[in-house]
Amino acid sequence: MTPDFTKSNGLLPVIIQDAGTMKVLMLGYMDQEAYTKTFETGYVTFYSRSRKSLWTKGETSGNYLIVQSCSLDCDSDALLINAIPKGPTCHTGNESCFSLPDEKGFLYKLEQIINERIISGSEESSYTKKLFNEGINKVAQKVGEEAVELIIEAKDNNIELFKNEAADLLFHLLILLKAKGLELKDIESTLLSRQR
Ligand code: AMP
Ligand code: ZN
Ligand code: ZN
Ligand code: ZN
Repeated sequence: MTPDFTKSNGLLPVIIQDAGTMKVLMLGYMDQEAYTKTFETGYVTFYSRSRKSLWTKGETSGNYLIVQSCSLDCDSDALLINAIPKGPTCHTGNESCFSLPDEKGFLYKLEQIINERIISGSEESSYTKKLFNEGINKVAQKVGEEAVELIIEAKDNNIELFKNEAADLLFHLLILLKAKGLELKDIESTLLSRQR
């Protein structure tokens, strides 16, 4: 499918969504040239309406948006791009140009951080890396321990301690998924497939 550039005077509105967290990051416009450049280079390039020229997001800040996937809307006059941001997307330094209501995507962000630690962290500075390197049995055992701690706190009345143990459990579960070669998304799919 090719986009329809005729509806908004040659400009295609483009929504950028974080491929990891699924948060909406910004809205920009592409003309045909910006669109072509984006998919040739893999870096999101807009048409700047104020500067009246092509603008590769990140060209001065370094906060590029790397294209992961994209889809046109039902009538091909708007584009959604899933991208990996190299830094904060908004020129104010915020992650997104929009004030997002909550942090519902944070587990995905955490999953990314865990991946980064495992790939490039050191055992001295990263608990995650150290635990991961101890092997799957050790990670699974930690999940078990955190589950037991959660059970104990569930019987108690200290909500803060309970929340902490729930966080510990989710965190270690993410590491266990990684050790099994799985992602949070895979478990989400399993849950989704149970929906009827
Ligand atoms: P950058 O593309 O990040 O190197 O930023 C270059 C310039 O583009 C900034 O100085 C801003 O004027 C503008 N700019 C950057 N990011 C945004 C954004 N998310 N929305 C609107 N304008 C932006
Ligand atoms: Zn449309
Ligand atoms: Zn902004
Ligand atoms: Zn714990």
